[in-house]
Amino acid sequence: MSVNQQAHTGPPYGQPQPGYQGYQQPAYGGQPLPGVPQSQYGAYNGPMPGYQQPVPPQGYFPSLGFPSKGSPVSLNSDTSSLAPNFIGSLRAPPTSGAPPPASGASLSSGHLAYSQFGHGDVQNGIPASAVPMQRPPASQPFLPGSAPTPVSQTATFQQYGPPPASVQQLSNHMAGMTIGSTTASAPSPVGLGYGPPTSVPPVSGSFSATGSGLYTPYTASQGPSPTSVSQGLPLAQPLFPGQLMSTQRLPTQVPGFAPPPSSAGIGPSSYPPSTGAPRPPTMPGPPLPGQTVAGPPTSQPNHVSSPPPPSTMSGLHPGPPMSGLHGPPPPTHPPQPGYQMQQNGSFGQVRGPQPNYGGAYPGTPNYGSQPGPPPPPKRLDPDSIPSPIQVIEDDRSNRGSEPFVTGVRGQVPPLVTTNFLVKDQGNASPRYIRCTSYNIPCTSDMAKQSQVPLAAVIKPLATLPPEETLPYLVDHGESGPVRCNRCKAYMCPFMQFIEGGRRFQCCFCSCVTEVPPHYFQHLDHTGKRVDFYDRPELSLGSYEFLATVDYCKNNKFPSPPAFIFMIDVSYNAVKSGLVRLICEELKSLLDYLPREGNMEESAIRVGFVTYNKVLHFYNVKSSLAQPQMMVVSDVADMFVPLLDGFLVNVNESRTVIASLLDQIPEMFADTRETETVFAPVIQAGLEALKAAECSGKLFIFHTSLPIAEAPGKLKNRDDKKLINTDKEKTLFQPQTSFYNNLAKDCVAQGCCVDLFLFPNQYLDVATLGVVTYQTGGSIYKYAYFQLETDQDRFLNDLRRDVQKEVGFDAVMRVRTSTGIRATDFFGAFYMSNTTDVEMAGLDCDKTITVEFKHDDKLSEDSGALLQCALLYTSCAGQRRLRIHNLSLNCCTQLADLYRNCETDTLINYLAKYAYRGVLNSPVKTVRDALINQCAQILACYRKNCASPSSAGQLILPECMKLLPVYLNCVLKSDVLQPGPEVTTDDRAYIRQLVTSMDVAETNVFFYPRLLPLTKADVDSDSLPAAIRNSEERLSKGDIYLLENGLNIFVWVGVNVQQGLIQNLFGVSSFSQISSDLSTLPVLENPFSKKVRSIVDMLQVQRSRYMKLIIVKQEDKLEMLFKHFLVEDKSLSGGASYVDFLCHMHKEIRQLLS
Ligand SMILES: [Zn+2]
Repeated sequence: MSVNQQAHTGPPYGQPQPGYQGYQQPAYGGQPLPGVPQSQYGAYNGPMPGYQQPVPPQGYFPSLGFPSKGSPVSLNSDTSSLAPNFIGSLRAPPTSGAPPPASGASLSSGHLAYSQFGHGDVQNGIPASAVPMQRPPASQPFLPGSAPTPVSQTATFQQYGPPPASVQQLSNHMAGMTIGSTTASAPSPVGLGYGPPTSVPPVSGSFSATGSGLYTPYTASQGPSPTSVSQGLPLAQPLFPGQLMSTQRLPTQVPGFAPPPSSAGIGPSSYPPSTGAPRPPTMPGPPLPGQTVAGPPTSQPNHVSSPPPPSTMSGLHPGPPMSGLHGPPPPTHPPQPGYQMQQNGSFGQVRGPQPNYGGAYPGTPNYGSQPGPPPPPKRLDPDSIPSPIQVIEDDRSNRGSEPFVTGVRGQVPPLVTTNFLVKDQGNASPRYIRCTSYNIPCTSDMAKQSQVPLAAVIKPLATLPPEETLPYLVDHGESGPVRCNRCKAYMCPFMQFIEGGRRFQCCFCSCVTEVPPHYFQHLDHTGKRVDFYDRPELSLGSYEFLATVDYCKNNKFPSPPAFIFMIDVSYNAVKSGLVRLICEELKSLLDYLPREGNMEESAIRVGFVTYNKVLHFYNVKSSLAQPQMMVVSDVADMFVPLLDGFLVNVNESRTVIASLLDQIPEMFADTRETETVFAPVIQAGLEALKAAECSGKLFIFHTSLPIAEAPGKLKNRDDKKLINTDKEKTLFQPQTSFYNNLAKDCVAQGCCVDLFLFPNQYLDVATLGVVTYQTGGSIYKYAYFQLETDQDRFLNDLRRDVQKEVGFDAVMRVRTSTGIRATDFFGAFYMSNTTDVEMAGLDCDKTITVEFKHDDKLSEDSGALLQCALLYTSCAGQRRLRIHNLSLNCCTQLADLYRNCETDTLINYLAKYAYRGVLNSPVKTVRDALINQCAQILACYRKNCASPSSAGQLILPECMKLLPVYLNCVLKSDVLQPGPEVTTDDRAYIRQLVTSMDVAETNVFFYPRLLPLTKADVDSDSLPAAIRNSEERLSKGDIYLLENGLNIFVWVGVNVQQGLIQNLFGVSSFSQISSDLSTLPVLENPFSKKVRSIVDMLQVQRSRYMKLIIVKQEDKLEMLFKHFLVEDKSLSGGASYVDFLCHMHKEIRQLLS
């Protein structure tokens, strides 16, 4: 239906008007459909009661959602709006075992949890909120012909020979199943259900604008208060505890900061100051074992832009040689005259050396900032250096109460850790796009001088909280969206209408284009079209266009996508109970496939494959009494032995599917096959989608290194000895290019691959993950999977992954106004040219980070514009374009750049940049390059923006004062500086995860959130105030929670009161607490309830279900936990925050001298 062809006379939008008439948002406001089991995965599948557009805060936790770090403040409001049971039921216990709800049947109470899931939160990515926005991403027009043409090769059947031996064997186990060896001989390529490209009715009804009407004119940049620049106090005069002046001047004389005079500016020997270990004069730092030290650091002040500079300072490893870690810590700092140690902890935590604590671990390195032997040497007080906790709290209190209105150009949004609402008044919400700086240097020279990367982190399909309006769907009719003739930019609020409205001038390329007659409208006295407020594309930053057939492959509207479940049934998978678990779960999960808008059932068809060394396809056609299995043992040239009956509608084939899922675990119960293939599995899924002429997603559940004879066969090439050598990069590279080629074919077909791995040993994530990565898919890894401890996590991840909003066959292009252009891209995607980011699938959690470079001068007057266009196929098969626009300021003064930066986004970019770098360079080179770049950034500020001061003072820009601490976290992360316990697969896995993370996720991943549980107020809904990630902040009488988006640790001090232990763990003493717990026991007391509610709340915020690990102080696992106390020195040689800051200071001094 063509929607806004005509101007609407409706009320101007702006106020999120619930009742928005005429506009029907898919998944919004729908009525519960009778017969549809919506209470479970509710929000996902569509109409959810309570999910109406104008949704009151109900069910949405502002704080939960976006802020990634615990904000006590926001949490209050959050939880308060929750139904009492909300949290607990958020993630239903695995329903395995429960009978799959018959379609249309009412759900058993046991399933309720799902529905809750649906409502819930918001956090970027939560399935819940994700659902409602049934809008997949849109992107760059899919120029016919420009896209890789899918090889329209139909499945070949000739390969199918006599039933492979395995059939015989298997048949014995197939109760009542017909083995389809014969059926395969005459497969009818009849397009089974793959319905003709239905004319996809535009689901979203007509659009009517809303809008607060007032379009705020651009105003000067309104960055965060630049205040402090260089107005800080010298550290020597300690600030009040916990109070951080906006600008910090760190006097050189502070022990930690002052390089010995002799080394002024250069002395490698001065760093790391804290180690105190004797060093050869020329050694930048004690080398780690196996690490080559690259000679004396050569400071290269002007060595700006080149990426991996010859090692500047290898000094990043302040740690003494590993062996030294076990000895008593050497005396750290020289006496510091004039330096006053501060004893106050801003958070009431134990400060300073805690007798008996650090030392309590025999053999444990006393890393961290605690000096070991008495008398404790004085050191730089951590409270006097910029605190992430303080910055987060300040932003929350300053910016959390007002909505962020996007009408103003170049506005820096609140931090990702702040809970705030967004009102779209012409620029895309920061939930969709965040930039490293909102004020771009006018010239390339300035940009180079500052070294601040210009990048945008884009999450095109981000989930919004219910209070915010989803992008409207606009239909420009048969001729498609109105676009600039030359650069093809889409109509947006920045296009300038001229000549009475008959033409418009492009804001990106200045070309003038005729307004199509059907789109003509008169201008008012200000030159604005009179229908301005009625059209989202004229007044909003984000909206969608309905794509015409011109935007479809082969000029044909797409078929709805398909999901294919491909289950490893080799020995390990069966024995661990995994196969049974998956089959049980699928029985119910299939009723919650993504649905579009008001559709009663999902348009997505499903198919099933099991495999070990051979593949088993299943015919689950509705007319069959029992499913039929077809075995393909010739995996060298994969084909799909059946077309009709392989991909089916869940409701139509319900009984056959249920029967199949019942039988699979039985069929393979006695298998002795341990070997698996992998590439042929993907090929099979790809071929099936090709045959069905649709896009889709493969869900592959895989357990081992594919060593069976087949294409893509792998060998175990893990070798930890390569770490810290020039060959380390090979560990991150795929061992064969086979998978790259396969990925390319998958992208061409819109075949996205999600991978669930259950390894008991090395399985080469770096290679297996290639297809997933390049098709925009997700990887999940459950090492040493055990049913009892891991099933909740796996099932929650699976449910979420199956239900979340996803677009298929997507292409994204970012257009920019003259003067800058997108030059580099980071994320899970494939690129066949330099501008189009192709993704077989793109879900609501994935981000693409885009870097920009100058190609001309910019002007302060016109600023700079970005337009991200995503073309995609929705879950119902509708082709759409999602457009996000953002306008930025431009500056001729460096100070303006530094005043409008966002460090969290900068870190997101730098981490992705570095993580890509390890593919081609030694990690040490990558680390050095990062340090060098950040030193340049800070030195440029110091030189050009800070007021004159002693050269010895460290002055950080207000907006970047956390750059050193966060950068250090990136540098010592597992990918760049692995500890001994980190496996090669872990590193490859983390590398892939981080590459698709949004800013909130990288923020908490690199600087975890640490909450003192024993400080929680059980009578309120708030979270306890977070504390800094350092061991010295921990008190042995307390219990803490640490989360980083992948794990939740609950750390219990040795002196915790017995009553607390009893209340939380149900045992009477510390020694009885089991470290094997993967969940907290459900106990009926306020403390237990409070802690469990906090855990549940955190789980909901993250895009993955976090693994819960109980850590007892002084227990073995504590080493793992300490790895996440990122302000301390790490076992792997990572510097403490204090040491790193000293090091950065020295680097900066070198650059300035
Ligand atoms: Zn243009």
